[in-house]
Amino acid sequence: MPKGALSVDTEHLFPIIKKWLYSEKDIFLREVLSNACDAVTKHKRLVSLSEAAESETPYRITVRADKDERTITVTDNGIGMSADEVDRYINSIALSGALDFISKYESESDNGGGIIGHFGLGFYSMFMVAERVEMRTKSYTDAPAVYWECDGSGNYEMQECDKTDRGTEIVMHVADDELSYLDAANLKRILEKYCAFLPVEIYLCGEKDERINDVHPLWQKNPSEVQDEEYQEFYKKTFGDFRDPLLWVHINADYPLNFRGVLFFPAKRSGYEPVESEIKLFYNAVFVADNIKEACPDFLVNVKGVLDCPELPLNVSRSYLQNDLYVRKVASHIAKKVADRIVALSGNERERFERIWPDIKPYIEYACMRDEKFNERVSGGVLFEKAGGGFCTLEEYLGGEKPEGTVYYATDPQAQSYYLGLYREKGVDVLLFDALIDTNYAQFLESKHEKLKFSRIDADFGAVGEQGDGNEALAALFRKASGREALQVECVRLGEAGAPALVSVNEESRRMADVMKVYAAGSGEGFPVEERLSLNLENPL
Ligand code: ADP
Repeated sequence: MPKGALSVDTEHLFPIIKKWLYSEKDIFLREVLSNACDAVTKHKRLVSLSEAAESETPYRITVRADKDERTITVTDNGIGMSADEVDRYINSIALSGALDFISKYESESDNGGGIIGHFGLGFYSMFMVAERVEMRTKSYTDAPAVYWECDGSGNYEMQECDKTDRGTEIVMHVADDELSYLDAANLKRILEKYCAFLPVEIYLCGEKDERINDVHPLWQKNPSEVQDEEYQEFYKKTFGDFRDPLLWVHINADYPLNFRGVLFFPAKRSGYEPVESEIKLFYNAVFVADNIKEACPDFLVNVKGVLDCPELPLNVSRSYLQNDLYVRKVASHIAKKVADRIVALSGNERERFERIWPDIKPYIEYACMRDEKFNERVSGGVLFEKAGGGFCTLEEYLGGEKPEGTVYYATDPQAQSYYLGLYREKGVDVLLFDALIDTNYAQFLESKHEKLKFSRIDADFGAVGEQGDGNEALAALFRKASGREALQVECVRLGEAGAPALVSVNEESRRMADVMKVYAAGSGEGFPVEERLSLNLENPL
């Protein structure tokens, strides 16, 4: 039986790279820039190991487009390459120089000091937009400089050249149908998207040189050294919002997860704006993808943030992320951190927390109802607004650690103002439930704690008056006068000044009716609410 190895040569590989390597062509810039960045990082490392002399020029990368020449040129003053290295790292596609470098210097630090690429094809992504690429490179060693040129079919030429300054210059001759890449605004947009936080200064050179990136991204800083204003600025710039965020959580996970990130709760949306979570994913400060929903717990529906996950491969697909265990662990770690931050704020920075609480409340209550673990962690920090002003936790309201007892609430302080007055007089706190989700959340809490009950202030008067002895004759009189045979009548003692008679609404039947109202919105069909007439035995009338 004949045997053999399949051989792949560049002639066949090239068209594939051009067409299929990346779904988005813009990515070629990310690849070229991250190589340049790595080259600088490597040089820094060699200097720190005293294997290379200090750089005489500040480390920097420049990007320049020339419309007449139809070229994009990227220049760095990184480590450079000798002819031998060009052969090894560039001419033999898929042999990744980064792997080589890391295996050599791995012992020096944790993960290769943040070297970005480990894929081995990034360099050739240039051919998605370029018909020809020239490279001049001078190694930090005294090896002679190299000129290298490659056309769109994968044929290259190499020779010595007279470049004297250390580093690499890459000239891409842009293909006829990709000329939009020569447009300065377009280049800037792409660079800002993918390279805004790369660790080496990047300049886009045009009429004036424009610095593209922030070499110290916020998430890499120590939270204790970052001012509130910095978080606010970062959020507004990164997510294009003009309002300050309400709250942020800076995560610095080391072991076993190893990722960094900052998550933000945006300011309250107006009724017309969509509420959406948005996670920007980075890999060692290189932008990878937007809208990575899987990396954020789905019950935190409005959270926006940046995550830098050096454990993920740079070139990841969405389906990969959706199924990745690491990504799911990141998400659950985020949930934990968000919950911890809320509890800490509620406990230690109460004033500040009370200011933002009305705006984040619906999201937190929703998250509690959606996720058991989140609820357990966060419930101690959840606040309730009091109808008379101020806030309290459930524990504070009940005056004991155990969630036992009755909690009184109002849904419409104006309509329920008479009832509110009764509670105020008796010194009983009433909570303000001004959104439907509040009542849902209360019901959810009842389902968690058998001895906890929520009761709207007009549901019964147990907290503000004594139950009076039934008076059948009086009840019959009222039934007759009202013409309602089935009218339920009860007697209470609400004091001489209290109203002679009040209507109370059965809690369960009213909740049911509220739910039906939402579902049957507009159909006009109501659910019968159980009402009772409470007669005040102490009223002179
Ligand atoms: P990767 O970066 O994933 O290893 P690439 O195809 O992008 O793969 O690059 C291959 C190798 O070529 C790099 O690992 C690096 O050794 C070398 N290289 C590419 N660009 C540069 C550069 N600007 N300066 C120095 N070396 C470079």
